[in-house]
Amino acid sequence: MDFTKLTIREINKNLKEKKFSASELAGFFIGEIEKKDKDIKAFLSNDFALAKKQAQGVDEKIKAGEEISMLAGVPAAIKDNILIQGMKATASSKMLENYVATYDATVIEKLKSLDTVFLGKTNMDEFAMGSSTENSAFFKTKPKDLSKVPGGSSGGSAAAVAAGEAVFALGSDTGGSIRQPASFCGVVGLKPTYGAVSRYGLIAMASSLDQIGPFAKTADDARVVFEAIKGKDKRDATSVNYLDRLQEKGLKGLKVGIPKEYFIDGMDKEVERLIKAEIKKMEDAGAKIEEISLPHTKSALSVYYILMPAEVSSNMARYDGIKYGFSTHGQNSGDLLSVYLNSRAEGLGAEVKRRIMLGTYVLSAGYYDAYYKRAQQVRTKITDDFKKAFEKVDIIATPTSPTTAFAFGEKTADPLSMYLADIFTVPINLAGVPAISIPCGDVKSMPVGLQLIAPWFYEETLFKAGEEYEAIR
Ligand code: GLN
Repeated sequence: MDFTKLTIREINKNLKEKKFSASELAGFFIGEIEKKDKDIKAFLSNDFALAKKQAQGVDEKIKAGEEISMLAGVPAAIKDNILIQGMKATASSKMLENYVATYDATVIEKLKSLDTVFLGKTNMDEFAMGSSTENSAFFKTKPKDLSKVPGGSSGGSAAAVAAGEAVFALGSDTGGSIRQPASFCGVVGLKPTYGAVSRYGLIAMASSLDQIGPFAKTADDARVVFEAIKGKDKRDATSVNYLDRLQEKGLKGLKVGIPKEYFIDGMDKEVERLIKAEIKKMEDAGAKIEEISLPHTKSALSVYYILMPAEVSSNMARYDGIKYGFSTHGQNSGDLLSVYLNSRAEGLGAEVKRRIMLGTYVLSAGYYDAYYKRAQQVRTKITDDFKKAFEKVDIIATPTSPTTAFAFGEKTADPLSMYLADIFTVPINLAGVPAISIPCGDVKSMPVGLQLIAPWFYEETLFKAGEEYEAIR
C-alpha cells in the first residue's frame, strides 16, 4: 500500500480495520523524511521519538477497542511559527533560534486531543514575511522534482505535503502564505474565515490578517483538518463561534463569479488560459458563471503593504533582546539601549527590518492620517466589494497566483516584485473571507492553483465545490 496516496478518511478506515498500525504509518513517514528531506529541506526540526510515542498511544487505543478520532495517528507537519510545547519554535528567525515553546497553541492542543502525530516543524520565511521561503534565516526549501521556489511563507509545509513527507500540514496565511505555496507546490491550501481558528500560540505577524489553516492533498482532507481546529477560544478574543452554514450546493446551480480585475496584464498568459479552461469545466458541470467586478482590487496590495507592516512593527517590538530570544547582552558591555539596538540589528533579517521601518513610518504622528487611517478606510471598501459580490454569486473563482513558481533568487533583489506575487491573495485577508487553492493543472510542468473564495463562514461551500471540481479536473 502506498501510504503517500491515502486520504485521511482512508487512513482512518484502515487503522480501524487493522490493515496497518499507527506505528507503521508513522514509521513510514519518518523514513520518507529521513530519505528525502536532506534534499527538500522542508523541516527545520523533528522529534521522531514524540511521533512514535503518539503513534503507539493510538495503537494501544485501537487494541483496547476504544473509539479513535478521524485524525488519530495521522502524521502531520507544523509550520515553525505554531507552538508545540517542548519543541523549538524559531519562526525561521535567528532571533528565536533557541526558543523552546513553553505551551501548546490552541490548534495543537486540539490536534493532540484527537491523537494526531506530529512529525516536526517546517521551514518558512522569517516570521512569515515573504513569498518564497527564501527569507528563512536557516536554509532554502526545494520542493521535490521542481527547480523553483516552494512559495511562501509556509513553503516548508507545502513542500512536505507535496513530497509525501506528511499527510497534512498546518500553515499560517496573512496575505497568501498558505494558498500561494499550495499553488506553487500542487497541493490544496485553505485560508479560513478570519476568527474561525484561534491564533493563540501562533507567533504573530499582522494580527488582523493572520489565520492558521491546513495544507492537504484533497479538499476533503482540508475539511477534516479545518473541522478539527476551528472554533472559539477564550484565549483569542478575535476568535468567534463558528457559524455552520448549511450548504447543500455542489457545482450544479452554483453561481460562480469571475472578477474581471483578476485577469490582468502582466499575468502569465498560459496560467490565464488554464484557469479559464478549468472554470469552463465547472460550467459544464452545471455551475453558472458570471462576470463580476471587485473595483477596489487595484488598491489591495498598497493597503496590505501599509496595514500589514504597521501591525508587524508593533508585534515585533517584543523582540528586544531582553524578554526572550537572541540577545547581545553580555557580548558588548553597552547600555540598555545598545542591547536593544544590537540584538535587533543582529537577530532580525533584512525583510523583517524593512517592514518594521515601513510600519513605524506609516504609524508615525505626521503620517498616520495619510497612510494608516486612509488604508483602513480603503480596507472597508475592499470588504464592501466582497459583500456586494456575494449578494449575486455563491463563490468567486480566480487564479491563486499570476504565475507558476519562480526561480530561486529571481525576486530576492527586488522586494516590490516579490510583493506582487501576492496580488490575488491579499484582498481575501483584508476582507477576512475564506479561500482555498486547489491544484488545477500544470503550465510547463509547474503546478497552477485555482482559488475559490466564499462568504464569511461558508468554508463548506469551498469544500463541496472543491471536491466536485477535483472529480472533473
Ligand atoms: N507573502 C506575503 C507577505 O510577504 C504574505 C505573507 C503571509 O501570508 N504570511 O507578506
